[in-house]
Amino acid sequence: MSDADTLLEEVSSYLKPKDVERIRHALEFSDNAHHGQLRQSGDPYISHPIAVARILTPLHLDPQAIMAALLHDVVEDTDITNEDISKKFGKPVADLVDGLSKLDKIEFETTEDAQAENFRKMLLAMARDVRVILIKLADRLHNMRTLGAMSREKIERIARETMEIYAPIANRLGLNAIYQELEDLGFKHLYPNRYSVLAKALKVARGNRREVVGKILDAIRQRLTEHHIAAQVYGREKHLYGIYQKMQAKSLAFSQVLDIYGFRVLVDEVPACYLALGALHALYKPIPGKFKDYVAISKANGYQSLHTTLFGPFGTPIEVQIRTHEMHKIAEAGVASHWLYKTAEEPINDLHQKTHQWLQSLLESLSESGDSVEFLEHLKVDLFPDEVYVFTPKGKILALPRGATAVDFAYSVHTDIGDRCVAAKVNFELVPLRTELKNGDRVEIITAPHAKPNPGWLSYVVTSKARSHIRHFLKTMHFQESATLGERLLHQALTSLGLKAADIDNNAHWEKLLRDISIKSRDEILADIGLGRRLNMVVARQLARTGETGTSQENPASSGVVTILGTEGMAVQFAKCCRPIPGDPIVGVIKSGQGLVVHTHDCPSLRKGRSGMEKWLDVTWDKNIARPFEVSIKLIVANQRGVLAKVAAAIAEAESNIENVHVTNEGDYTALYFTLQVSNRQHLARVMRGLRTIPEVVRITRVKSVPA
Ligand code: MN
Repeated sequence: MSDADTLLEEVSSYLKPKDVERIRHALEFSDNAHHGQLRQSGDPYISHPIAVARILTPLHLDPQAIMAALLHDVVEDTDITNEDISKKFGKPVADLVDGLSKLDKIEFETTEDAQAENFRKMLLAMARDVRVILIKLADRLHNMRTLGAMSREKIERIARETMEIYAPIANRLGLNAIYQELEDLGFKHLYPNRYSVLAKALKVARGNRREVVGKILDAIRQRLTEHHIAAQVYGREKHLYGIYQKMQAKSLAFSQVLDIYGFRVLVDEVPACYLALGALHALYKPIPGKFKDYVAISKANGYQSLHTTLFGPFGTPIEVQIRTHEMHKIAEAGVASHWLYKTAEEPINDLHQKTHQWLQSLLESLSESGDSVEFLEHLKVDLFPDEVYVFTPKGKILALPRGATAVDFAYSVHTDIGDRCVAAKVNFELVPLRTELKNGDRVEIITAPHAKPNPGWLSYVVTSKARSHIRHFLKTMHFQESATLGERLLHQALTSLGLKAADIDNNAHWEKLLRDISIKSRDEILADIGLGRRLNMVVARQLARTGETGTSQENPASSGVVTILGTEGMAVQFAKCCRPIPGDPIVGVIKSGQGLVVHTHDCPSLRKGRSGMEKWLDVTWDKNIARPFEVSIKLIVANQRGVLAKVAAAIAEAESNIENVHVTNEGDYTALYFTLQVSNRQHLARVMRGLRTIPEVVRITRVKSVPA
């Protein structure tokens, strides 16, 4: 019988004739499409998709998945398109095939452990439909079984990829048989010599130990019967790679690995697991520290069992797994147990319920009804809903929390890249820095040498690395700005003491002062002055005292004036009450911890608290200030339609921006409160002139007493 016939017979055992016909159709279609292509082994190509489908039939996968397995290489290797598949076999099948070819495009080149972990996760995240992963694993398994004549290098790459990516995924999904075979095949191709030596030794050992194993089996069965525990007991061989790992981990020779056999006890009910455990611990002494209760706390992949190791006869340690029949089904088929133990018409039974619950922790969206068919339709995985996986331009994968933006990406690549990023390209398209990244995005960051972090980034970054670096940068910047301001304030104070800054500004004065007040750096003192934590006059006097230059005669007449440059950043604040603009007469007030706050000289809120005069400073505007300032004005206008639009137009006409507007009703009139951006007093005058030309405007005043 041909493989094709065997496949059709296998699917007939669990699928309806109608579905078997569809599968036969897909089989013929794939055969025609691959016609004339050969495998490296010389077999016709169709043998591969058939073998892949046959790896899935024992798991009773649904017709769509079997058809997709048969068609999985058609789009890649022939001129048939995904649309053709969709038309002939339906969209769900075409989607599965499409998902598979997308996975094929991801290349695994790096073998660092962290990378491998990220690849595994990305593969799972991108596959979405768990059936895509099942077919992919079957594809890989058959390719591993038939690794042909290839270069040693290529074989090693494929074998390593299998060990690092695919076997762990099979394990994670609880597909025990596929997992163990993938691992054994990977091991065989990676270390052919070790494999053949070990395989031979294992074969001999099995023969030698058969008698012992038989005796232990009998003893266990008898003991359980005496305790009236209905159970099935099996001996099982451990998989070869598992034994090799044990030898590696404990530096053992093969002759020292005694437990190549394990035993498995299957019982009907959960309580019987513990009864059986008790009975076996009475039969042979348990090895302390080896007992594990995965019944109470199941493994992440849903696996449940009691594990114990006993001192067997002849000094052999015996590993025993005890579980119920239902736990056994999940242990063997994992995620596929849903298909394997589905009964067509019957409502979801207890096992389904459990499988279902387990999947629920893995699945993003489940059908809300318990309907099995619909469940399959919506079977999408999002095994790692909290993470996204993106590529650097060099093909490295980075794992970021969901919601991460281009800025988070930039900081996770390198702090310098984060600090200097100005734009980003996602999949070769220019996007804003705040763009949220998606699985599989290729992200490139554009930097500029003098770019700086923007406080606005803090509103959307999600990684703590980005957040803390931005905060750190802003703090440092604040410190530097404060120190620069402090220096100017200090010079002003020195001038008012009749001293020249240059006279004081030498190391001897400073060194003594730093020693006296035990502070490490000059900048720290300057920043303290800038932030208003120290008084400039006090520091100036201290400095004067330390030097011999000390004429120390205070001379207020020549007191210096601090110039406001408009570029001080956070070290200088412009008071929100009076909103000074260049051209206004201003005064500066040092507020402890906040630095210099600039008010207009006639600010009403300043007048109220004229105490603390010593903290007032004469300040003046620099001539060349380019930045815009906020200013508040109040308009009284007649109640007529469209006034606001006219006012707004006049403001725009005078090249000012409206930051904020607030409207209140005052009888027949309306009061409009605007916060505008202007560059100086002349600019404001121009805006007000423009507003006066509007007939409805009754009065315009500048507001200097907005409550802070
Ligand atoms: Mn294939």
